[in-house]
Amino acid sequence: MSFDLVIHAGSALVEGAFRPAWIGVRHGRIAAIEEGPLDGPLVELADDEVLIPGIVDTHVHVNEPGRTEWEGFASATAAAAAGGVTTIVDMPLNSIPATITIDALLEKRAVALEKVAVDTGFWGGAVPENLGVLTELNAGGVFGFKAFLAPSGVEEFGHLDPDQLERALEEIAALGSLLIVHAEDPGVLDAHENDGGPDYHAFVASRPDEAETTAIERVIAGVRRTGARAHILHLSSAAALPALRAARAEGLPITVETCPHYLTLAEEQIPDGATQFKCCPPIRDDANRDLLWDALLSGDIDIVVTDHSPATVALKTRGNGDFGLAWGGIAGLQLGLAAVWTEAARRGIPLASVLGWMSRGPADLVGLERKGRIAVGADADLAVFAPDERFTVHQEQLLHKNPVSAYDGRELRGVVRRTWVRGVAPGAGELLRRP
Ligand SMILES: [Zn+2]
Repeated sequence: MSFDLVIHAGSALVEGAFRPAWIGVRHGRIAAIEEGPLDGPLVELADDEVLIPGIVDTHVHVNEPGRTEWEGFASATAAAAAGGVTTIVDMPLNSIPATITIDALLEKRAVALEKVAVDTGFWGGAVPENLGVLTELNAGGVFGFKAFLAPSGVEEFGHLDPDQLERALEEIAALGSLLIVHAEDPGVLDAHENDGGPDYHAFVASRPDEAETTAIERVIAGVRRTGARAHILHLSSAAALPALRAARAEGLPITVETCPHYLTLAEEQIPDGATQFKCCPPIRDDANRDLLWDALLSGDIDIVVTDHSPATVALKTRGNGDFGLAWGGIAGLQLGLAAVWTEAARRGIPLASVLGWMSRGPADLVGLERKGRIAVGADADLAVFAPDERFTVHQEQLLHKNPVSAYDGRELRGVVRRTWVRGVAPGAGELLRRP
């Protein structure tokens, strides 16, 4: 029986380990994994290439409709495919409208449908205005609900106070859904507010570890009371890890992500006025970064996703280097795998571990059992990766819409040479619903 596509790899990540494999693809799915030859149109990997499952990035701000000049589905998913990312899940902000009603979700799906090059799902938002009616968005197929505990940065997406957080958790527990939380405490942020300016250390001081630890402790307490599943977005502060470790040891259903920029960049290297590095919570010091890596290795952090949060060059440089005025957010969708792999390799951490955090782990978070793995029955979402090839990042060459990158000029290791989405070249992405 012939296959639609056969890939012969000297090294493929199968069941968490690299080994030689012949992969047979039929109707967009992996139909066979064998040690010997399979019949069908053959792609033979080069000696310096490995076959990996496509990256699943569950934290992407596409910003369309409404702020398409910041990114948009066409450029976001083209950049994704170029970076080996075959599935994204789009955040409910900073599009206009925000994805906080079923009508907004339907509008976003309609806009995305003809444009996505890779498979794309959607988060909903939990905001003060829609508590009590989250069931509508849930029925619309969102993978869960994002909430902020401090101001989000855009007017149309409000944050939850402690009582509202509790109500959201109760409602989400009843729906069997997932609350994903931007965990910074507004009281702590207010108490540390400063006048901005170009000093990066002053910016970090304005969003201290305590902002994260206080907010995360509130989420943990809410999960304990309600039984809801919660996921901590973009953990920056390692100071929150002891509380999270204890909560998980207690059996509370809490998962944790961190991002490539927290793992690969450090406060000590960020020059004053370099607002391309501004994000919230901020990139902290080198010692903190080491602790985040330790937490990945010990399993206290589950996944690594980009929090791709682009804006226009004008907004990223607003105020001419003033960290108080520039837009906070780092665009990393196309570079996430290479950035994390570069740093992992430097630390002697194997590629299989990186893919566990960036492919299988995020797929499992959102229940996509056919994504993020090379296994019979899985979608043939695959990438050819040359792990030892190096390249220098030139921000104007990235497929992100706006040429501003925190990685500009850096030499990274690991080149994605080819990507398949359900067995074919990227171009016809599907819109995903929560299974
Ligand atoms: Zn985000």
